Amino acid sequence: MKKAAILTFGCQMNINDSAKMKSVLSKMGYSFVDREDNADLIIMNTCTVRQGAADRVYARLSQMKNLKKKNPNLIIGIAGCLAQEKKEIIIDKSPHTDFVLGNQNIHRLAEVVKRIENKEENHVILTSDLDEVPPRIDTNFSNVTAYVSITYGCSNKCSYCIVPYVRGKLRSVPIDEVVEEVRDYLAKGYKEIILVGQNVNSYGKDLKDASFAELLNRVASIEGKFRIRFVSPHPAEFKQDVVDTIAKYDKICKSIHFPLQSGSSRILKMMYRNHTKDRFLFWVERLRNKIPGLAITTDIIVGFPGETEDDFQDTLDVVRKSEFDNSYMYMYSKREWTPAAVMQNQIPSEVKLDRLKRLINVQNEVSKKESSRYLGTIQEVLVEGPSQKDPNVLVGRSDANKVVHFKGDDDLVGKFVKIKISDTKTWTLYGEIYGS
Ligand code: SF4
Repeated sequence: MKKAAILTFGCQMNINDSAKMKSVLSKMGYSFVDREDNADLIIMNTCTVRQGAADRVYARLSQMKNLKKKNPNLIIGIAGCLAQEKKEIIIDKSPHTDFVLGNQNIHRLAEVVKRIENKEENHVILTSDLDEVPPRIDTNFSNVTAYVSITYGCSNKCSYCIVPYVRGKLRSVPIDEVVEEVRDYLAKGYKEIILVGQNVNSYGKDLKDASFAELLNRVASIEGKFRIRFVSPHPAEFKQDVVDTIAKYDKICKSIHFPLQSGSSRILKMMYRNHTKDRFLFWVERLRNKIPGLAITTDIIVGFPGETEDDFQDTLDVVRKSEFDNSYMYMYSKREWTPAAVMQNQIPSEVKLDRLKRLINVQNEVSKKESSRYLGTIQEVLVEGPSQKDPNVLVGRSDANKVVHFKGDDDLVGKFVKIKISDTKTWTLYGEIYGS
C-alpha cells in the first residue's frame, strides 16, 4: 500500500483542509504515516500568516531534497496558503517539488497526484478560483470530530493579515448544505462538529436571509447527542443573538475563541479591526453573564508597528480582566501585500520578544488560575483516544475544551463520560471516571 505523510502548519482551516486531503488520498489507496522518511507521497499543507511559519516550510522542503535523492519516485507537494501566495517561486526555489496546490483546489488533488504518478508532467501548479465555494469533500480527521466549512475567505482587511489575499473574499456555504453535511457526519457516528471559517460570524453576509445565529440554531436543533464548536468569531461583528443561541443549547459548547489581537484601541484602529478595548470587554462581560462557566481563548499580536509600552499595558490589562483560559500569542510579523508591512515605526525584534515573554508570563498565571477552578468538579468529557505517552490513559475534552486525562478502556473512545477532576495543571485536567 502506498504511504502518504501530510504535514500541517497553521490554523483550523488548514487542519480541516488536511483532513479533506486525507479523505481524497484514502480513496486513492494511500495509508498514512507520521514520518516523511517512510512516505511515498509527502504533502506540506502550509501557512503564510507569519513569516516564521513560511520559513519553517522552506527549511523542511530543503531537507526533503535528500529524501528525493534516495527515492526518486517520492512525490512532494506543497498545498495551502503559501502555495497560493508563492506558486511560481516554490518550484524555482525547490525544483524537487512535484506539485503546488492552492487552498481552493483540494478537490483536484487526486488528478494532480495521478498526473505526477503517471509521469505526465514534471511539475504541476494548480492555484485558482478564489471566488467560488469549493466542492464539498468529507473530512478524515478522527472518528469523533468532524470539521465543517461554513465560509471560505474573508472580506475584512485587517492591516496585518494576508488571508484575504490568499483565500479570497467571503463565500458562505448555503445553510441547507451545512445542515445536510452535519447530518451526514452524525449519521456516520461523529460526536463533535466544528464549524469553521475565517470569520464565522460574518456567515451569511453574502447570502440572502442567513445569519450565523440562524445557522447555529439550525445545526443545534438536529436531534441526537453531539457537540458543536465553532472557530472563530470576530469581536467587531459579534451580536447578541449569537450569545443567546450559545446559552440556549446544551449542544453548543461553553467555550469560545474570541480573537483580541491587541488591548489598545489605538493599535486596534491601526489594525483595521473595527473594535475597541471597551467593546471587547463589553462582549466578554455579556458572554460571562449570560453563559456561566464559559471558557474564553484568544489570539494576541505583540509588537504591531507603533505599539508603545502603554499600548502593551492595555493588552495585559485586557488579558487580566478577560481571564482567558489560553491565548495564542505571537510577535507581529511583516507580510507582503499588507498595509502594516509598510507602516512606520516597526518595532525592533528584541522589544517584541521582551513583550511576548511578559505576556506569556501573565497569561500563564491567568491560565493556571482558570484551570484550578475545575478541581473537584464533574466534567462531561468526549473521549478522543489513548494518550500518546501512556496507552492506558485516555484523552478527551470537556465542554469548555479543556484536555482531560483519565484511566479507562479503549471502548470509551467516541463516548461521553463523566470525569471527576482530581488534579489540574495549567493546560490539562486529570481525573477518574465518575459513576458507572
Ligand atoms: S478577520 Fe481579519 S485577521 Fe481574520 S481572516 Fe479576516 S482579515 Fe484576517
